[in-house]
Amino acid sequence: MRTISPIEGYPEEIRDAFVGIILNAIDALPNGGEIYLTAEENSGFAWIYVQDNGVGIRDDIRLKNTKSVINRHAQELLDPKQPGIFNEAIMELGATVCRPQSPKCTFCPINELCIANNKNQTNIIPLKSRREQRTSRMINFYILKYEKSFLLVKRPQKGLLAGLWEFPASQIISEGNNPGKLIFPEWMNIREKPQKVWQPIKHTYTHFNATYHPYLFIINNRDFIPAGYEEHKWISLAEIARLPIHRAMQKTVEKISSDLEIIA
Ligand code: SF4
Repeated sequence: MRTISPIEGYPEEIRDAFVGIILNAIDALPNGGEIYLTAEENSGFAWIYVQDNGVGIRDDIRLKNTKSVINRHAQELLDPKQPGIFNEAIMELGATVCRPQSPKCTFCPINELCIANNKNQTNIIPLKSRREQRTSRMINFYILKYEKSFLLVKRPQKGLLAGLWEFPASQIISEGNNPGKLIFPEWMNIREKPQKVWQPIKHTYTHFNATYHPYLFIINNRDFIPAGYEEHKWISLAEIARLPIHRAMQKTVEKISSDLEIIA
């Protein structure tokens, strides 16, 4: 590297900046490659160029590891004295020039530094996988009322909403099924029409959208042994709120409790 005149600055900050930039370049060389450092003086400024011939970050940017590499790079580029200016500039660049579809590379102020542009690969860099399509599930809540008590069941200790309490439920994937259609679990031994049907309650889970359909059945015996659950119990409406219940169950109780109080 050519020798240039001494420059003003804090040695530790300058060293940290160089270490950060060179680590970035190393991250861009997962399969090996070369890093070039050049220096020149121009108009009273010292210019340092760091170039690599790597492939850049090719991993899926939805992956946690890739995100942490990108975050680290962003932190190194950020000027701690005026982070707002950097953030605004990056957001502006993303909103007006480097758009996911058809980036305007010709007008981009950093097009010479951009690996995607230099390799003519803006259509594949950055790599962003498609999100899994959300499915929809229709779930019936069977609210069994015996005198002043209601049947609650505890979900299995493994899987979704493990160990939480709810009204007995049947689950129907919406594809090919009639939303909210009454399909009774074998153990319920009820075949008559419900005494009350409420409007469905929607709840969003990480991988699917659920619609809960609450149905009320007033029964005159409680000889039920719900299959597929950890435990079951008959409790009053007031006691339901004291059990660990999941959010969709909370929403359901909030929606129907005033009606249940009247019916009680
Ligand atoms: S040159 Fe690179 S950073 Fe600039 S718009 Fe094109 S893809 Fe985006």
